[in-house]
Amino acid sequence: MSEADTALPALHDASLLRTEALLGGEWVSGPSRFAVCNPATGEHLAGVSCGDAEQARLMVEAAERALPSWRGRSARERGLLLSRWAQLLRQNADDLAQLMTAEQGKPLAEARGEVSYAASFLEWYAEEGKRVYGETIPSSDSNKRQWVWRQPVGVCAAITPWNFPLAMITRKVAPALAAGCTVMVKPAEQTPLTALACAELALRAGLPAGVLGVLPASADGSITVGQVWCAHPSVRHLSFTGSTEVGRILMAQCAPTLKRLSMELGGQAPFIVFDDADLDSAVEGAVQAKYRNSGQTCISANRLLVQAGIHDAFVERLAERVAGLHVGPGTQAGVQVGPLIDAAALAKVKAHVDDALALGATARVGGQVRGDLGPTFFDPTLLVGVTPKMRCAVEETFGPVAPVLKFDTEAQALALANASEYGLAAYFYSRDIGRVIRLAEALEYGMVGVNTGLISSAELPFGGVKQSGFGREGGHHGLEEYLDTKLVCVGDVNA
Ligand code: NAP
Repeated sequence: MSEADTALPALHDASLLRTEALLGGEWVSGPSRFAVCNPATGEHLAGVSCGDAEQARLMVEAAERALPSWRGRSARERGLLLSRWAQLLRQNADDLAQLMTAEQGKPLAEARGEVSYAASFLEWYAEEGKRVYGETIPSSDSNKRQWVWRQPVGVCAAITPWNFPLAMITRKVAPALAAGCTVMVKPAEQTPLTALACAELALRAGLPAGVLGVLPASADGSITVGQVWCAHPSVRHLSFTGSTEVGRILMAQCAPTLKRLSMELGGQAPFIVFDDADLDSAVEGAVQAKYRNSGQTCISANRLLVQAGIHDAFVERLAERVAGLHVGPGTQAGVQVGPLIDAAALAKVKAHVDDALALGATARVGGQVRGDLGPTFFDPTLLVGVTPKMRCAVEETFGPVAPVLKFDTEAQALALANASEYGLAAYFYSRDIGRVIRLAEALEYGMVGVNTGLISSAELPFGGVKQSGFGREGGHHGLEEYLDTKLVCVGDVNA
């Protein structure tokens, strides 16, 4: 650490603060360092080692060396290590949450919630890894016996975003390790400290050298690391969570080596409220699905579609709730909405709101940059009178802004909801059982929340369709991503 590292939170266990790459079981410095800052204050937190092409290559080699013995362990042995790691995450939840809030900005209570959510993937896959079953397939030839086996893909790479700095890592790493793969992670430039603390706990849990590598990098370094991992023939799988734009680049880079891919990309979730909805429940669901993590989640409700008969009552009730949200630094008691991640994010949110206001929408609540609170705060905002032509109705805002569009019929709501290039999550509120089934079937989304604003947990397959990507994380589906299918056909059985 340098002398400039003054704004770091005090940790119970200061040795969780790591600023180098975890490579082959050792903490290793790269040729340069990059700054990690607190988005709430702009203060410098730490200088972190920046990965380069050489480290990226060495990490693949370390993962290759570690693979045979890791793959050779029983699922039970691997599961025990994952469980121990999860336990350490939970035991160190306060420190992990402090680091996460410092570099990412989310309120401490949400950060603690993310630690628990992150640990749940390790716990779930510690068990699920024991259920990688094959098949016996009766042969049409009585002289043959045939089986289907499931085997680990091999060395895997994961590139993760800043919005869930811990859970997006364990959601990939847990199924990969449970399946018997070794895995390398490149966390986002803004949030390497949480990732490295998580890696420190993996070492303490007893993960052997090379089974997990973590390579932090600045934005430029990330491009280099991505290029090396995508081009490397020994890397058999790339799992990416981030923007659709970067997903396309990585997919193209992986094409020459035909890697298996999991792409968890952007979203533009509709949140539909029908006249027959339970108003209280719909308002609570909207608050959870919109303002959590300051609206910076890929499944954030990006546009609220509200039926004419309930529109005014819903807006009234939601406006009260939004006006009461406490915005401020994530470390302050009672804060529910923290800062945005950086100046570019703030500029995008402001541009979406300005565009909507210029085209005739009204800010029922908020609508302002909150420079009085710090460099990247924006008011929790509720926009009414929004139309499908406005940017906030078609692009991913990634901020605490809820645009409300009014509709009359179910057919209109469905057409509006599906009129998006994205297909990650959709939500709707209705108590009409026929409509619930009709709409859940017709929405072109990978995930549909009915009468709930919270849809993600370790046992469920998270993922999208259309430009939101492909592949699933969570549940037994998440394990499939890291398994190859092998056919074994034995002849001459009766010879
Ligand atoms: P991003 O710019 O795509 O970055 C995501 C990750 O990719 C970061 O680690 C970033 O590293 C890295 N990266 C960027 N360009 C790269 C390149 N050319 N080669 C290799 N790595 C590269 O996404 P973001 O804006 O930070 O994250 C928000 C996006 O993620 C949103 O669109 C959101 O919807 C999506 N998201 C999706 C899910 C899901 O499960 N579907 C979950 C969470 C978020 P640097 O930080 O160093 O640039």
